[in-house]
Amino acid sequence: MPALKVLITGYEAAPFFKRGGLGDVLGSLPKALRDIGVDARVIIPYYEDIEKKSARFRINKIGEYSIVFGSDIEHIGVYGGPHVYFLSNRKYLSSINTRGRNKKIDQFAFFDLAVVEFSHFILEKKKWYPRLIHCNDWHTGFIPLLIEQRIPTLLTIHNLNYQGWGSSKVLDLLHVKDEAVKELKRGVPVTEVNVLGEGILHATRVSTVSPSYAKEITSDYDGDPIHLYLKRREKEGKDHGVMGIVNGIDYETWNPKYDANSWEKAKKKNKKLLLKSMGLADRPTFCFIGRMAGQKGLDILIKAIDKILQGKNAANFILLGSGVPSIEKMVNKTANKYKDNVRVELSYNEEFAHKLYAGSDFIIIPSRYEPCGLIQMIAMRYGTIPIAAKTGGLKDTISHAKNGFLFKKGSASGLVEGVKIALMICQSHSLYEKMVKSALQTDFSWNKSAKLYKELYLDIIKE
Ligand code: ADP
Repeated sequence: MPALKVLITGYEAAPFFKRGGLGDVLGSLPKALRDIGVDARVIIPYYEDIEKKSARFRINKIGEYSIVFGSDIEHIGVYGGPHVYFLSNRKYLSSINTRGRNKKIDQFAFFDLAVVEFSHFILEKKKWYPRLIHCNDWHTGFIPLLIEQRIPTLLTIHNLNYQGWGSSKVLDLLHVKDEAVKELKRGVPVTEVNVLGEGILHATRVSTVSPSYAKEITSDYDGDPIHLYLKRREKEGKDHGVMGIVNGIDYETWNPKYDANSWEKAKKKNKKLLLKSMGLADRPTFCFIGRMAGQKGLDILIKAIDKILQGKNAANFILLGSGVPSIEKMVNKTANKYKDNVRVELSYNEEFAHKLYAGSDFIIIPSRYEPCGLIQMIAMRYGTIPIAAKTGGLKDTISHAKNGFLFKKGSASGLVEGVKIALMICQSHSLYEKMVKSALQTDFSWNKSAKLYKELYLDIIKE
């Protein structure tokens, strides 16, 4: 049987360009799919940051085509590496637009239209035609509408909170008639468009990145019109509802080079090096890695640190991340207050992230919601025990008191309790060892989830 051809798209894909978990997924899921016989290829914009590294990634130009965007004819350069395509256009695709929400919506509307046209280009050029387009997050939300069922689509929601709201003027640029988006328009102001909402309405199927998050977004109605559409899909029955498939992690990228039998010496060494480079004393060490956004619950962590460190000197906290300036300021204040125990690195730094995963004893994940979350899985792969809020994918991947700890989401006192228990566990070598081993033995590879995606793809193209 010829391999199932699938085009997977989103705004980022590791190792070419990564800013968050979606990048990890688009970097690793396609590889896992190819291992089980799916001809999975990825397509993302050709940002300047990628272009600069084109030699390293063995990227070559393979052709070009044009699209009509508004009243302009725009040229698209197509570049390719192994199993990956990049679309280039100086004006729209050279970097992520940060100058206002409408600009960003226009940028990804442009990308989506270019992806739709790409399906014709690649058929002509390489005789390759996708049986299915796998869209990810709002950035690709216009594709199901624009492709008009010519190719079935799966839309995976990695974070419902980012929906791509903007002026409906973008519809003129795409030559989409108001009629086509009429349905969602009932729920939103007439001058607005919600790109993710359009995706949910027009995709052949919708999925998300954990069963618990699937339940949360189809049941917790909070006034967001998108919930009504998700709920409606859910009502249409199990298979046509919103399926939750937990992400895996790339075992090559995240490879500690030790396992449940050989971890102890290596982890001790990693910790020693980390603490030395940070100028911290040898104490139980807790880290945080992530975007500094409201979702990630840094305010909860800061409150907990205050309670734990007041008058005591029991632990180290090392925080890595960047984002909202007010959150960065709050975090910095705490670092200044507890100079002996807290360190903050306000940047995006993959090398340092690896060192933190490898050298910390625990990772704290106080998220208010977490669709899947990769950091708990990566941490466990390094034998670093997660202390995480009981929500979404965190709930689905952490077994409380076995390979990590779960506390009530949003609760600083719950987190303080979790940290106290963790400190107690550190006193007992056998308990700590048992947890580390359990974390190291949990399977977070893509094996299981890639098979679920393959089954879902096959199911979708059968329709
Ligand atoms: P999200 O997708 O919401 O940002 P995830 O937990 O799914 O969160 O994935 C986050 C990914 O981004 C992980 O691979 C993590 O290591 C990485 N990451 C987050 N912040 C940073 C940072 N400041 N520096 C380096 N890597 C980071």
